[in-house]
Amino acid sequence: MAQEVCSLKARLEEKEKEIVDLKNKLAQLEKSHASVLELQDKVTPLSPLTAKPALSNEDIMRYSRQLLLPELGVKGQLNLSGASVLIVGCGGLGCPLAQYLAAAGVGRLGLLDYDEVELSNLHRQVLHGEENQGQAKALSAARAVKRLNSTVECIPYHLQLSPENALQLIQQYPQATSVTYNVPTRYLVNDACVLSGKPLVSASALRMEGQLTVYNYCGGPCYRCLYPLPPPPETVTNCSDGGVLGVVPGIMGCFQALEVLKIASGQGSSCGQQLLMFDAQGFRFRPIRLRPKQADCAVCGESPSVTQLIDYEAFCGSAATDKDKTCLGVVCEHKVYLLIKCFLLASVFICVSSLTCLVLMTMCIFYIYLCIVINITTKALSWQDQQIRSVSHVSIG
Ligand SMILES: [Zn+2]
Repeated sequence: MAQEVCSLKARLEEKEKEIVDLKNKLAQLEKSHASVLELQDKVTPLSPLTAKPALSNEDIMRYSRQLLLPELGVKGQLNLSGASVLIVGCGGLGCPLAQYLAAAGVGRLGLLDYDEVELSNLHRQVLHGEENQGQAKALSAARAVKRLNSTVECIPYHLQLSPENALQLIQQYPQATSVTYNVPTRYLVNDACVLSGKPLVSASALRMEGQLTVYNYCGGPCYRCLYPLPPPPETVTNCSDGGVLGVVPGIMGCFQALEVLKIASGQGSSCGQQLLMFDAQGFRFRPIRLRPKQADCAVCGESPSVTQLIDYEAFCGSAATDKDKTCLGVVCEHKVYLLIKCFLLASVFICVSSLTCLVLMTMCIFYIYLCIVINITTKALSWQDQQIRSVSHVSIG
């Protein structure tokens, strides 16, 4: 009898061990299945994300250093677990931004980029490696983020944000961040955020300078309140034309992550009505108080004329991608130079026999050239003048 009991006990222990092993295997399989990333080429509906009811032991270990902060605490961490953030652009700003949001425990990250990784990106877009060249940036960034924190839900979108998909996408994310350089996309993201009632944490970096603002937040201004009209396309410079030191977008992306985390955890942002300017050369930070929300703003004003998304490429007169750049100024300038060269050649040819004619022709050419130069300069300055006027409404904080 006693022997039979011992044998049954031994078999039971064996079975219990087997059950534990099977449970571990199942958990590993479920974890690896959950971490499979599917690249989205269109916007699909997402199930709503809710905050965790309580932190697990693993959560407490992982986030222990930030849980100690009275500004965040357990409540702030739980708020982060229920936060969804859309990152428009997985480049120099988007990479550190996604990295810190994932590390801090944001529940869901939408990573959007239409571009692929190139060698010239690697000096500033630090989530991508040499082996990722040719891959979709959104997928490369999502994989890197998953390696850092597998509990964060990542949705990589390999698509171009457009008036057709922007509202559907942005409405699914409580916070949107824009890190894009081209002007049509800035207006598109701004209008979609205003129409969806979402704050927009926006940053930019060029050469040795960076800027950061939170638009459409707590009654503050939107992008259109400050820039009602787009700049002439020939006056806009981007990183591929003007250059950028890699660490500058890195710093600005970290500031963006800071403001997103403050908003998503419930602390709130203090950048709602101010522009932070960073001069890396002189190592200066300059907060500038912005003018308030404008009653006559086309999208967030009292009688808005923009009540749905429009054709932003037509509105701005430029393409919504940085790949296919059309620099009208350069084209125009080339035409002017060709015209002048033709005149000079013609004048030399005609005036071989007549010195007087040569003098007259030279004077004519000089006059035409002067008129063209003055015309171009006036056009370029008119937008700068508009910007100076918009900045003149702000006071330095
Ligand atoms: Zn506005």
